Amino acid sequence: MSSSNLFISNKDDGLTESGAARKLKLDDWEEEKPIIRGRNGHHGNKRKKAAARDPGDEPDSFPRFDEDEEDETRLPNSVIDTDGLSRPGIGTRERLRDSPQAMTRLNKIQGAVRTILESVGEDPNRSGLQRTPERYAKAIMFFTRGYGQDLREIVNNAVFHEDHREMVVVKDIEVSSMCEHHMVPFLGKMHIGYIPDGQVIGLSKLPRIAEVFSRRLQIQERLTKEVANTIMEVLKPQGVGVVMESRHLCMVMRGVEKGTAVTVTSCVLGCFESSEKVRNEFLSLVGGGR
Ligand SMILES: [Zn+2]
Repeated sequence: MSSSNLFISNKDDGLTESGAARKLKLDDWEEEKPIIRGRNGHHGNKRKKAAARDPGDEPDSFPRFDEDEEDETRLPNSVIDTDGLSRPGIGTRERLRDSPQAMTRLNKIQGAVRTILESVGEDPNRSGLQRTPERYAKAIMFFTRGYGQDLREIVNNAVFHEDHREMVVVKDIEVSSMCEHHMVPFLGKMHIGYIPDGQVIGLSKLPRIAEVFSRRLQIQERLTKEVANTIMEVLKPQGVGVVMESRHLCMVMRGVEKGTAVTVTSCVLGCFESSEKVRNEFLSLVGGGR
């Protein structure tokens, strides 16, 4: 039993600002931290840093896109490593390296991006664009990494027996996903609430669950539903409610060009669906002040 709703409103409620902030974050991720063009001794430095992150890895044998990259190293306090990973989990690089398809996949994406650049009338060889296919390939793999994430691993050890039977709400979870119709981002906030039935989940796991489903090609309606269904399955609570509001760049940048339009979706399960009182409490908690 579930009910889902989709509203599109035109209110200008500050999401414009948060959208802009979000955009900056994406750019930050994609664009490099300061790079030192190393001459001497940087290999040792790099090795030491990688060892601290993932002892099983030998960074120099990780597939590279070009020789240029061998000469790059990051400032010691950089959170993003030269291969785009940030504190990779144990064995992450190994898995990437061991997968015979991994490099083929990245190369294929790079070829496709080069084709796109040519097709829009750009010169893929001009200096600003030379490494764009490579950057984009890494970026799109990052934006869709949810496909490869293990929900059980994420939720494991974070479900606790607790006789709390009041509503738990985590709101304003920042979510960035990719619209599957246009492959451009939609950015916004998700609010998650549930009423436990003997079990609670570590609060930080709720954003993690949202992350798993948002880092892939999505439509907002399905994303909202998948997060609600997952919490229902993992926790078996009395009920769950998920509301998401976001701005779709495919609406902002093309077609109707309504930069202020906010799409709101909701999914309520269990007592959130059957009890109007519960639903209203949830909606007033997540919608307060708007
Ligand atoms: Zn779209």
